[in-house]
Amino acid sequence: MESILDRPIEEWDLGPEPLYRRSQICHWIFGRRVTDFSQMTSLPWELRRRLSEQYSVHTLSLETRRVAPDGTEKFLWRLSDGQLLESVLIPASEGRDGMRAKRWTLCISTQVGCAYGCRFCASGLMGWKRNLTPGEIVGQVLAAQEHSRLPMGNLVFMGMGEPLANFDALQVALSYLCSPWGLGIGARRITISTVGLVPKIWQLAEDPRAFRLAISLHAPNDALRSKLMPIARKYSLQELLEACIAYVRNKGPCLTFEYILLEHVNDYPDHARELSALARRAGAKLNLIPYNPVQGLPWKRPRPTRLECFRDVLARSGCEVTVRQPKGDMIEAACGQLRLVSLVGGGYVEAQQDKCRIPTAGDRQGLQSAAEHKPFDRSMSK
Ligand code: SF4
Repeated sequence: MESILDRPIEEWDLGPEPLYRRSQICHWIFGRRVTDFSQMTSLPWELRRRLSEQYSVHTLSLETRRVAPDGTEKFLWRLSDGQLLESVLIPASEGRDGMRAKRWTLCISTQVGCAYGCRFCASGLMGWKRNLTPGEIVGQVLAAQEHSRLPMGNLVFMGMGEPLANFDALQVALSYLCSPWGLGIGARRITISTVGLVPKIWQLAEDPRAFRLAISLHAPNDALRSKLMPIARKYSLQELLEACIAYVRNKGPCLTFEYILLEHVNDYPDHARELSALARRAGAKLNLIPYNPVQGLPWKRPRPTRLECFRDVLARSGCEVTVRQPKGDMIEAACGQLRLVSLVGGGYVEAQQDKCRIPTAGDRQGLQSAAEHKPFDRSMSK
């Protein structure tokens, strides 16, 4: 059944009902978190019946929920057509005083699988299945809050899929997430991450809302990037940089380059120097992400000394650089991992909390054949 959130609010079919019914329905969905139209008691009985027959609110059912020792919570949702989808709730890191801030970030997905095939990514391994609908995108926020009972801090579109490849659905979802009659999340608390779809970045730059933009860069030159990320063969770093500069010009400082560090691939000091030049040109902050190993893929997380050396080169050159703390390793919290393990593990999925199951040899064998990756030519890295 179609979610009422799959359509922009102006397109809801409410028959002859007056316009103020829309804000009443929004109040029930986003204010009171009611997902059953029959319980929206301020609506006339006939409208409730009509809505129940025609729409759902969201159709996500919880398949697995896991909590890692560091507090990272991963949700695997089952969609109405049986596809699996994941979202991750990430706690703030500990501050210098050792206290954890009461701020959480929810990382959500925009597609089932992903078509972009980045060589280090679990989502890319299983290919693209379909786009999520706006209702499924917003539904992840509603359902995660319902299950965790935590106030939401920030929202990042960094889960499965490429948000800008599902642009129309993203726009509708953002209208519900940002509007005062929806969840009212400020644009500056929303980060849209992209692999670098240049025309869509230009389009987003025209949007009046100033969303934060994160570019999955992962390599500081075209040669290395095109070996790690097929999209780089379509859009050069020069084209990507021009779109990013235009975005920052329109929105102010809100750009981050995400850089997954892969040992002996993109973590040499020369790479750091190239990366620093790009970041300073675009006015971007840098977020270094030690690789979260994926079962069946050959990449490794750099040793701490290599990571520190890389970060120091960037810091000395004047870049604003942070290192993302690896979170949720034990629960397959890297993009697409839980879904991947669930799909190839056969019977692996089980609803459990505060408990992590290590994949068996059978799981790993399944992953290996699912990956079908070609051996990486490490000579390219240096
Ligand atoms: S890193 Fe992002 S764009 Fe690349 S395959 Fe994974 S989900 Fe797709």
